[in-house]
Amino acid sequence: MDRRTLVVWCAIAFGAPAALAAADVGNIAGGSSSTAPAQNVRSVDRDGRIAELLREGMAMSATLRGLVAALEASDAIVHVSFAHSPALNGYLTHQLTAAGSHHYLRVVLRARLSNRESIPVLAHELQHALEVARSPEVRDSEAMRELFRRIGTPALNSALVHETQEALRVQRQVRAELRA
Ligand SMILES: [Zn+2]
Repeated sequence: MDRRTLVVWCAIAFGAPAALAAADVGNIAGGSSSTAPAQNVRSVDRDGRIAELLREGMAMSATLRGLVAALEASDAIVHVSFAHSPALNGYLTHQLTAAGSHHYLRVVLRARLSNRESIPVLAHELQHALEVARSPEVRDSEAMRELFRRIGTPALNSALVHETQEALRVQRQVRAELRA
């Protein structure tokens, strides 16, 4: 893999543009229905699996509900998609687009994990999205890299991949909530 495509934390990016056209995405519950659990966390898939994942996760995990609520109160729009063969179970790409009053972020989850395995990973990545959303000075990919260099520690033996203790803690906590 081209090393320039490696991203800064917990993530390996591949190619897709960060700014996804509104037409390419659906709200997680499939539209603007008042029953939508989230407006700022959006699915990119069309088969509804991410919406199902989020509903199932939010029903079982107070931690995931808290993360989604915090993102709902933020200016971050998080697009979530599945990929079939990423090297990691999940990642937040380093591609950040600030457009108008919103920050657009992209989370990718490994498609072959079960829902039970994916929900803690989704929570982990939403924690990273929140770390960005809570840093108003971060308006582009370079500033985002700088943020994770500051708040994270290098992971996977790569200076370009960073991890945060809080994301690891959130993931453990959600896993425990799913077992309860
Ligand atoms: Zn991480």
